[in-house]
Amino acid sequence: MKKVKLGYNGPIVSEVCFGSLAISPLQGRVTEEQGRDILRYAFSQGIDWIDTAEIYANYRQLRPVLNEYPDTKIVTKCYAVTKAELYRSLEKARLELERDIIDIFLLHEQENYFTLKGHAEAWEALRECKEKGLIGNIGISTHAIQGVKAGALQPGLDIIHPLINYQGLGIIDGSLAEMLEAINFASELGIGIYAMKVFGGGHLASKPEEALGFIKNIKSIHAMALGMSTQQEIDFNLAILSGEKVSEKLRNSVIHRERKLYIADWCQGCGNCVKACQQGALVLQGDRVHLIAAKCILCGYCGRVCPHFCLKIV
Ligand code: SF4
Ligand code: SF4
Repeated sequence: MKKVKLGYNGPIVSEVCFGSLAISPLQGRVTEEQGRDILRYAFSQGIDWIDTAEIYANYRQLRPVLNEYPDTKIVTKCYAVTKAELYRSLEKARLELERDIIDIFLLHEQENYFTLKGHAEAWEALRECKEKGLIGNIGISTHAIQGVKAGALQPGLDIIHPLINYQGLGIIDGSLAEMLEAINFASELGIGIYAMKVFGGGHLASKPEEALGFIKNIKSIHAMALGMSTQQEIDFNLAILSGEKVSEKLRNSVIHRERKLYIADWCQGCGNCVKACQQGALVLQGDRVHLIAAKCILCGYCGRVCPHFCLKIV
């Protein structure tokens, strides 16, 4: 598989990063063991890094496979605001993943300059941990143009993981053109960029050549995280990226079935999920929540804040 350098300071990695949200309990597509088998298969095909996050709650699920592939690089992320919270998140990752060094550690879902400013203490702690050699590179993930711009100017930042796809689905504060401009700006400063939501949370899955080709052809995007939950999906995506002709059999075996967020009848209308959704895809109407399906990128982040377990991607 093609190898890329993630910016000036980042490591050399495969052009595809395994997005582990797709095999995590948060999405519930596969069992933990099935997820491990998929991950083993991905690594056997040349993918040599994995993207996870504290909220995916899958460190222990991933650990046995990561131990079998000790050279695999790991990215994780957390929402820490304070220094203590950052250290707690890092220690959790190091302990549960059984790694002395976390290769890349990101602050999760940073929207703009003010969000980053609010996380200043955690950011300084990240820099400190990098200096101590506990973390290889540091950065942010973001669904926002202003997040990319703020990240680009953040002292010491190495990596940005922005939401980007050929229709601009899920960008929370502007157009695709503006996001590309912000990414170019960051990339020119030497920041490593790897894309998220290349398939727009599944909405663009019916046009995989367009979705993957778009990202691959943008010079300022060095790599992409792909969430995959079957061997066929891995074969299919890797074949497209390497320019191989994809057999009809393989194409037909990749079922790009429409997925959606299911809201159970017993919703109490507490509004927790509305606040958690960065996409504005949930609205309270009367005593329960409703989904604006066109805005939902199927991240699953709302499910974790529902005290009544009403939300599930099916
Ligand atoms: S509704 Fe839930 S799954 Fe959909 S974008 Fe919002 S947080 Fe993500
Ligand atoms: S968090 Fe759960 S109970 Fe509260 S509004 Fe959302 S779905 Fe309903």
